[in-house]
Amino acid sequence: MVKTNAWDVVVVGAGAAGLFCAALAGQRGLRVLVIDHAKTLGEKIRISGGGRCNFTNCHSGPSNFLCQSPEFVNAVLQRYQPNDFIALVKKHGIAFHEKHRGQLFCNDSSKAIVEMLMAECQKGKVMLRHPVTVNTVCAPRGASSAGFTQAKQVDEVPATATATATATATAAHFPPEATQLDLWRLQTTDGAIQTRQLVVATGGLPVPAIGASAWGLELARQMGLAVTPVRPGLVPLALDPKDQQGFESLAGLSLAVEIQAGQPSVKTQDPPVTQHPNTNQSYGQAAFHEDLLFTHKGLSGPAVLQASNYWQPGESISINWLINSEANLIFDESRHGGKRVDNLLGQIMPQRLAQAFAEKLEFGERRWAEIGKKDRARIIDQLTNWQVKPTGSLGWKKAEVMLGGVSTEEIDPQTMMAKRHHGLHFIGECLDVTGHLGGHNFQWAWASGFVCAQALA
Ligand SMILES: Cc1cc2nc3c(=O)[nH]c(=O)nc-3n(C[C@H](O)[C@H](O)[C@H](O)COP(=O)(O)OP(=O)(O)OC[C@H]3O[C@@H](n4cnc5c(N)ncnc54)[C@H](O)[C@@H]3O)c2cc1C
Repeated sequence: MVKTNAWDVVVVGAGAAGLFCAALAGQRGLRVLVIDHAKTLGEKIRISGGGRCNFTNCHSGPSNFLCQSPEFVNAVLQRYQPNDFIALVKKHGIAFHEKHRGQLFCNDSSKAIVEMLMAECQKGKVMLRHPVTVNTVCAPRGASSAGFTQAKQVDEVPATATATATATATAAHFPPEATQLDLWRLQTTDGAIQTRQLVVATGGLPVPAIGASAWGLELARQMGLAVTPVRPGLVPLALDPKDQQGFESLAGLSLAVEIQAGQPSVKTQDPPVTQHPNTNQSYGQAAFHEDLLFTHKGLSGPAVLQASNYWQPGESISINWLINSEANLIFDESRHGGKRVDNLLGQIMPQRLAQAFAEKLEFGERRWAEIGKKDRARIIDQLTNWQVKPTGSLGWKKAEVMLGGVSTEEIDPQTMMAKRHHGLHFIGECLDVTGHLGGHNFQWAWASGFVCAQALA
């Protein structure tokens, strides 16, 4: 076995986007190496969708994404659509079902998607090496930036990292006289590597325990590319104990609500990259009609995860607990005026929540007819527009995605290549593109990986 150190393409990050891109590029005849610092590959796919991987959404489109440039997202999504990935899943005989609003999940384990990606990589004769850490990256001579030295990792990488080859390289593709002028040069714990094209697919910062790192973001910064501020997304929110009061015993209770978060977008002439680096960028305002889950620390469930993408520290979120159109009729005085507020609430929401609200509203034991007009309006307002200011999110450990990342202004959506650095590509979650809950984030990984692979070839 001859171990080559010269490649057409090196992909850093063997997650959803990296493996998919590598497989397609390999199948188009390129010699592709994928490097990952994790011991076990595809862990995020394995834990996704509660172990069943919500691998796409039939309705995925630009309106399901948060990005400063919907045009950028659209240009990429158009080229590889949910049906394209569904066809691949079917070809591999993976059974799946639609759960809710176009969300497609594996019937069995999400491991089937990891195995499918590995099989596609094998078909493209892709070489996988892991756990391997990249210590330095040198741009081809003449490129506008100096070398990159690895930043501190979020997780622990074994000091004596070894390389595991799952495919065999036959011979170096580049002629011996190829000079380093054309090539990206990487120093890794598995030796020096050269490549014509470098693809960064290191994902976002959620779940550091399974390999998340800021490597891709640091590389972009050191190459002089704009990176928009990052923060945890699709994440549960914590409540102040005083707001939590009365709700403590509700942990585990789930109900459908309408939730709203964020501030209306204000269009300015300034591109987002000019923002102060410590200022979170706003993605506007959005409302979701989904299930909310009470937890010991605050609020979670699909409704809150969706809202968390639009929520910024210091802001309130608004919850309408009475989304049933008949709910308001319950307060019709002529029919129900003689009933106590707690009993009325019990007719339109789970009994435990009704009790908690009756205590919070201070009128629980009063009859509806006995309550003054102003106080009634206040009660209805609190039930339909309950404003609460979360104290924070549960952070990277509990987040599903990263908001922000490498600015899309730096990337050509036809190739996923940095406009200012020939041969340097960014795909997947490390870009400033974040999907709503429901399979959109994987669809972004597949689509951006596809577009990049076409350009590499
Ligand atoms: C709990 C959970 C559940 C989720 N469920 C869903 C779901 O059902 N549907 C959905 O659409 N989305 C889901 N997501 C989001 C989805 O997993 C991600 O958006 C998607 O995996 C991003 O793909 P990626 O390839 O960009 O990054 P990743 O899949 O995260 O892959 C990045 C890879 O890069 C490697 N890496 C990182 N740093 C380095 C480094 N310095 N050197 C070498 N390698 C490195 C990592 O080890 C990893 O293998 C979920 C996320 C979480 C956390």
